[in-house]
Amino acid sequence: MPFDHPFTFVTHPSRVVFAPGSLHQLRQEVDALGARRALVLCTPRQTNIAEMASTLVGSASAGIFSGAEMHVPVESVRRARQYAREVGADCAVAVGGGSTVGLGKAIALESGLPIIAVPTTYAGSEMTPIYGMTEAGVKKTGRDLRVLPRTVLYDPVLSQHLPVSISVVSGINAIAHAAEGLYARDGNPVMSLLAEEGIRALAQGLRSIHRAPADMAARSACLYGAWLCGSVLGHVGMSLHHQLCHTLGGSFNLPHAETHTVVLPHALAYNAAAAPEAMARVAAAIGAPEAATGLYDLALELDAPTSLREIGMPREGLGRVVELALANPYWTPRPLEAEALARLLDDAWTGARPNDQKPPDGHVWNTTS
Ligand code: NAD
Repeated sequence: MPFDHPFTFVTHPSRVVFAPGSLHQLRQEVDALGARRALVLCTPRQTNIAEMASTLVGSASAGIFSGAEMHVPVESVRRARQYAREVGADCAVAVGGGSTVGLGKAIALESGLPIIAVPTTYAGSEMTPIYGMTEAGVKKTGRDLRVLPRTVLYDPVLSQHLPVSISVVSGINAIAHAAEGLYARDGNPVMSLLAEEGIRALAQGLRSIHRAPADMAARSACLYGAWLCGSVLGHVGMSLHHQLCHTLGGSFNLPHAETHTVVLPHALAYNAAAAPEAMARVAAAIGAPEAATGLYDLALELDAPTSLREIGMPREGLGRVVELALANPYWTPRPLEAEALARLLDDAWTGARPNDQKPPDGHVWNTTS
């Protein structure tokens, strides 16, 4: 029952334009913000799309900054902020994945520059007021409405050539936002609808992309799913899974989307008995009998990584992750227990198929999520 606990529904203002070829509306969207000097941001690998964007913006383009980097290092943020000041930018156009959108957010955090996001992966950052920056190996995150993109152009044509391996892990990263949103303490029935629909669209879209990478209907389904799942991340609190990934990524410099892909089945197995309704909705959305094993099997089917070992995690570091998680626990449906957490991480490290963990006899976990 969706109304079995009270909730408060809040929604963020955002303008979403969704269409194949919507990049061609970029100048209109820049004008609609009243901007005259739009700075286009991208990673070094995506300068071709950035040049196209800059050309489309025409006389309102203030140039291109192509120094966006994974994990948004503070050095690249300083360079980008300096460049934005030098060219007199009054708007940032972030064309790329979560790293590029993240750079736009870091500029906006200081200057309040409005952001137009043109996502080319499925990470979902464009729908959130969450920013992150890395300094001296430590990633700091926060929430601020100034960094929420004002306009998002979803153009499935731009992700047509996103390599299948990156498509899959960034899509599962988005599924993770929605899966945890389904058992969030501050969740609500509307966000749960978005979450379930987003997971369904991504699971179907990723399966099709895996068979036929240029399938435009599948690319559209994945972007639609990314939008919904990103929106869930932006509106409700995350839990054990995001905490573990944050710790693993930040302390051991593991690749972001791959870490989410490996950990998700195990984090859901940990919480399965304490959040049965959420698990049933995840399972239904991916078309599997059970959420945790279903997501593990989906990763195998899509040739995605299934172990922390294969993405570079040292086994001897797992104990530190348990310590950090216990020292500053996020709320999670099943309370954190050191031994079970260590087992979860060891299973994720070896790549074992997750088991549905049941509470000990006579013990009832909190099911009010
Ligand atoms: P990414 O942005 O780092 O992109 C991965 C690689 O793919 C890059 O080399 C990029 O140049 C390339 N790429 C992107 N689009 C492409 C395309 N269409 N064709 C070819 N290559 C392309 O990876 P990501 O998974 O999108 O984002 C991960 C980052 O986003 C992490 O830093 C994570 O913390 C952040 N993130 C933030 C939020 C938030 O709400 N703040 C949400 C999700 C992710």
